[in-house]
Amino acid sequence: MIKKASLAKINLFLYITGRRSDGFHDLFSLMAKIGLADDMTFVFHDRGIQVTCDHPDVPEDETNLAHRAAVLFFACCEKISKPIPGEGVCIHIKKQIPVGGGLGGGSSNAATVLQVLNDRYSRPFSLKQLIEMGRCLGADVPFFLFNGPALATGVGEKLAPVSNLHFCHVLLCDSGIHVPTSRVFKGHEFCLTSHKKYTIKSVSDALLQGQGGDIGQYLHNDLEGSAFRLYPEIRSTKKEMEDLLQRPVTMSGSGGSLFALYPDRKDAQQGYEMLCRRWPGKNRNVFLTALQNR
Ligand code: ATP
Repeated sequence: MIKKASLAKINLFLYITGRRSDGFHDLFSLMAKIGLADDMTFVFHDRGIQVTCDHPDVPEDETNLAHRAAVLFFACCEKISKPIPGEGVCIHIKKQIPVGGGLGGGSSNAATVLQVLNDRYSRPFSLKQLIEMGRCLGADVPFFLFNGPALATGVGEKLAPVSNLHFCHVLLCDSGIHVPTSRVFKGHEFCLTSHKKYTIKSVSDALLQGQGGDIGQYLHNDLEGSAFRLYPEIRSTKKEMEDLLQRPVTMSGSGGSLFALYPDRKDAQQGYEMLCRRWPGKNRNVFLTALQNR
């Protein structure tokens, strides 16, 4: 049996830079993994692929991204004439990452499957090949195979390393709304002003040249407008968090999770306790975690 943590991500900033003819959007985003993770367990056998998950909103059939990743991995092995003897795996996912929370839970699970299977079968594929496979599964999957924070462009699959981010504690609140990503992208009202183009260029230059590691100044998410129109509770949760914490709060990805950054652990702990007191029940989940450099 193999156990592996499958980390979540946040988008420290996310700009929509274009609309493509295939219906997808081009974006410019700074992504970083955080300590919040699903626990994945792998048991190898010779009876095909099974996926189970303890969360009622996550499918256990072949549409589960972890299942799709395993199918793709074994198919690619056949393609390179490296069939796996007795190929079969049971994968169990213990969900901690809020589902539909803009934290990339499904994509992370898929990337973890590709990594675990590649290691288990003596690495038939290079990292570059795994990233190619990841692209077929979803725009965020390559990021979870990539080591460290990254500037993402294209639909999120073109990645450049950002090595100098300052360490930060991350106070995260799941607004409790399962947000369908495609609805939020569809609802986005596109506008790329010259001011925004200038901001993107200067942020990109600073980060790629190893400056601007203090990321607090760049927090932004173009999808907030659309997500807030569709789900006003996300807007009100953000407002309440900002009032309570007295610091900027940003939505991750297509929502509905919201986060605030803290350089100082004590301040982060105080903020965490404040949010737990405000939402003691199960309708909002609050997590205190941290940016990861892997
Ligand atoms: P996206 O990557 O689309 O922005 P997200 O990060 O907001 O998604 P996820 O938790 O990845 O949210 O879930 C998105 C959808 O994918 C859910 O509706 C869920 O049913 C489905 N799904 C399929 N496989 C998984 C998985 N292994 N874990 C979580 N969700 C999964």
